[in-house]
Amino acid sequence: MDKQTITFVKKERVADGTMAFFFTKPDGFTYKPGQYIELTLINPKETDDEGDARVFSLVSTPKHEYLEVAIRMRDSAFKRCLGNLKESEEILLDGPFGAFLLHQDTNKRAVFLVGGIGITPIMSMVRSAEEEKIKRPMTLVLSTRTLGDAPFLSELHEKKENKIMDLLHTVTNEEVSGQDLEHGYISSDMLKKNLTDIDTCIFYVVGPPAMVRAMNKVLEELEVSPDNIKMEEFAGYEKEKGRTE
Ligand SMILES: Cc1cc2nc3c(=O)[nH]c(=O)nc-3n(C[C@H](O)[C@H](O)[C@H](O)COP(=O)(O)OP(=O)(O)OC[C@H]3O[C@@H](n4cnc5c(N)ncnc54)[C@H](O)[C@@H]3O)c2cc1C
Repeated sequence: MDKQTITFVKKERVADGTMAFFFTKPDGFTYKPGQYIELTLINPKETDDEGDARVFSLVSTPKHEYLEVAIRMRDSAFKRCLGNLKESEEILLDGPFGAFLLHQDTNKRAVFLVGGIGITPIMSMVRSAEEEKIKRPMTLVLSTRTLGDAPFLSELHEKKENKIMDLLHTVTNEEVSGQDLEHGYISSDMLKKNLTDIDTCIFYVVGPPAMVRAMNKVLEELEVSPDNIKMEEFAGYEKEKGRTE
C-alpha cells in the first residue's frame, strides 16, 4: 500500500527529553499492540544523512482515536523538524510493521525487560490489556538512568495499582529508594528475586541495541530457552554505549 498522509494533532511531554506525538488515524488503518510505523517528513526545512524517515513503535491502542508515538528528542534534523510541526501539518505514514506481539497463551507470564524509551511497544500492550479487560500475568522490569527519564511513569504506576501488571523500576545513574524501586542494571539475581515462574515466562526484551545485548546475556545466565524470548532493538541508539535507555 502507498504511504498515507496523516496530520499532526498535538504533542505532550512524557519524561525528561521525551515527547509523545499524536497524529490523525486514516480510516480503516489497523494495527496490533507492539507494532511500529514509519513516519516521513514532507518537504522538511532541513535534512541529514539519515534521511527524512524514522520508525517508531505505537504507544496508542488500536481503539484510540489518534496514532500516538513517544520519541527521545535528540538533536537530529528529523527530530528538530518533527518537534516544530504545527497543528494540521501533514506527514507520511507507512506500516504497520513488526511481529513483536504478545503470545496467545494467557496463562504464561509476559516479562518485559525494557530499557528507557523501549517502553513504547509495551505501553500499547498494557493499555490494550486494560482496555480489553484481558486478565493475564505481566511483569514490567523497567531500567532508566534517572527517575525523570522514565516515560509514562505515573501511568505505569496506575496500571500496577489497577493490577494490570507488576512493576519493578531500576534506576542506574542516581540513588533511589522506595517500593518497587531498585538501583543498578537489570541482572539475573534481580530477576530470580522477583520472578517465581522463570521457566514458563515469555520474555520481551526491548530498548537500544546495547541494552538488548546485555539482556541476552542475563537470560542466558538464567538458561531461558531462546523459544521463550522475543526482542525488539531500537536501532538508531547504537552509539550510546553503556547506556540503558
Ligand atoms: C522497531 C523500532 C522501533 C523504534 N521505536 C522507537 C520509539 O518508539 N521511540 C524512539 O524514540 N525511537 C524508536 N526507534 C528508534 C528510531 O527509529 C530512531 O532510530 C532513533 O530515534 C534515532 O533517531 P535520531 O533522529 O535521534 O538519530 P539519527 O539521526 O537517526 O542518528 C542515527 C545515528 O547517529 C547516532 N547519533 C545521532 N545523534 C546522536 C547523539 N546525540 N548521540 C549519540 N549518537 C547519536 C545514532 O546512534 C545512530 O547511529 C525505533 C527503532 C526501531 C528499529
